[in-house]
Amino acid sequence: MSENTSLGSRPLFSGYEEMHHLADGVHMLQMWVNVCIIESREGVAIFDAGLPFLGPRIVEELRSLTDKPVLYVIYGHGHADHAFGTPFILQDAEKRGHPRPSIVAHKAVPRRFDRYRRTLPYQERINRAQFQIPENVPAFPWEYVYPDEIVQEESTIKLGDVTLELRHARGETDDHLWLWIPERRTACVSDFWIWSCPNLGNPFKVQRYTLEWAEALEEIAGHAPEVMLPGHGSPLVGSGKITEACLTVSRALRCLDQQVVNMLNEGKWPEEILRSFRWPEEFSSSPYLAPIYGHPYFVVQALLREYHGWYDGNPSHLFPSPEAEVAREILALVEGEERVLERSRILAGEGRLQLALHLLDLILAAGSRRRNEAGELKAEILENMAEKEPSLIARNILLFGARELRREVEV
Ligand SMILES: [Zn+2]
Repeated sequence: MSENTSLGSRPLFSGYEEMHHLADGVHMLQMWVNVCIIESREGVAIFDAGLPFLGPRIVEELRSLTDKPVLYVIYGHGHADHAFGTPFILQDAEKRGHPRPSIVAHKAVPRRFDRYRRTLPYQERINRAQFQIPENVPAFPWEYVYPDEIVQEESTIKLGDVTLELRHARGETDDHLWLWIPERRTACVSDFWIWSCPNLGNPFKVQRYTLEWAEALEEIAGHAPEVMLPGHGSPLVGSGKITEACLTVSRALRCLDQQVVNMLNEGKWPEEILRSFRWPEEFSSSPYLAPIYGHPYFVVQALLREYHGWYDGNPSHLFPSPEAEVAREILALVEGEERVLERSRILAGEGRLQLALHLLDLILAAGSRRRNEAGELKAEILENMAEKEPSLIARNILLFGARELRREVEV
């Protein structure tokens, strides 16, 4: 576990475990991903059901708290780490002779599950890369428990004496719900809060929704929660702190959104927008927006995709020649790959790593004789960059790239 993904003693995305008791009958099991357990006289609701391999742990922790039946399992959203411990919760209910819990989710969750099942090998591959999952461990869920009850925009569930108000908003996903418990002044917000710059514009994943995420945070703050339970990381306590936290992040998202809109209106193309957007100090120094998972650069990528197609402004790139052909032409012009390889080494030595990568890519794309040397140097540079990269996603992409290159070089 790198320090970079930690916040004080509360690491994100680790095996760290703690059960928090936050309000009367409101508990949060903090693990790699959090699970909220809400108890009333009649029974239990679980908000977010974790990863498949966390299912047994969730049941064990639940049963150390209460023997009451689980009446509802609510998916905060349909991501792999939020909806897939469910089979173990169902098995536990059956074993105890309890009625089968009702599975509640937003109406877009079944469509997401269908998509995941159609693209399972692809999902396996990208998630293995994003999270550095070893080859011998499954990288994506294969058992899908679809919802029994569908939430359109909002819905209220009476859990005995506790009211569960479910609200939909788009943000990290199109199927996101957050839960408001008025009697406990508690908001369970799933991945609307992850103690990092929001995970918008994830390099591998489908479109996410910046302005709507900001609006959702403003709505959550508008309820003045005393407790906010996030999808990852520690709970937030105290309405002043929660309001400040939510509004800081929503301001940051609106700030990036406005810049992208302005620059598009001024006639700028994505490359220039990605080079020139600003991330004010108020945000870069905020404990709520550290680029340890999501990254402001990725957010701008998400915004470009929200407002713009994939065209980069250069008609040469509309129907481009194969990279290999272009690279061979350039290498022929500079009379050989040796000079390019040599220059790459010099650039790398000067710490201009990114530029060195682009030169090495010419050799690699051209499939030339010095391919293996270029591959080895590129892998080394990527590992070097990974060491200094705060974003877990970016770091893992660099390391995945290095691993793939080394594998190719060995063959
Ligand atoms: Zn998520």
